[in-house]
Amino acid sequence: MKTTIRSVNGIEYRYQTKAVKNLNLHVTAQGQVWVSAPRGLAPERADAFVASRAGWIAQARQRALERARQDALPPPDPRQALALFTQVSEEIFPLFATVLGGQRPRLLVRDMKTRWGSCSPGRRQITLNLRLAAKPRPLVEYVVLHEYCHFIHPDHQAGFWALMESLMPDCRARRRALRLGDGEEKGAKPGPEPRKG
Ligand SMILES: [Zn+2]
Repeated sequence: MKTTIRSVNGIEYRYQTKAVKNLNLHVTAQGQVWVSAPRGLAPERADAFVASRAGWIAQARQRALERARQDALPPPDPRQALALFTQVSEEIFPLFATVLGGQRPRLLVRDMKTRWGSCSPGRRQITLNLRLAAKPRPLVEYVVLHEYCHFIHPDHQAGFWALMESLMPDCRARRRALRLGDGEEKGAKPGPEPRKG
């Protein structure tokens, strides 16, 4: 698979053609822009696609930078993190007390690389990322509530999101704010053929 480096409107990107149906745009954690395109697509159409996503690319790069900055910080103190998570959990628990038979879930704190939290409904246990404690409180609330909702809906199907939205109407905005640096936009249709001449 050949990779070429192209540039449009000051945005440099790595371009590959392969067996894909659509144009895919990906910004790596290092801020590099990659585009994969269906074989035979005129590269000018990839240029037009990248140019049309300039705002999104700038945002994804900003998030990547922010993530790199945060990764360089020392992790929060685990005891303080647990105290914060316990406080937030105490506010949410009453909503789920019936489902949980009146018993509080066990909270664990771990330095995790790829997720903010997880839930083991069978063990009545919520694990939270140590680094979540460094985030603004509304985002901590989002993750703790998200994990509580898994006591009712173990998956992320419509029922899960309906419950989240009924309890936290702005949950999607908080979720977006939590997204990590790595950004990607999949499955965009190739734009119109650029005019020749
Ligand atoms: Zn989940």
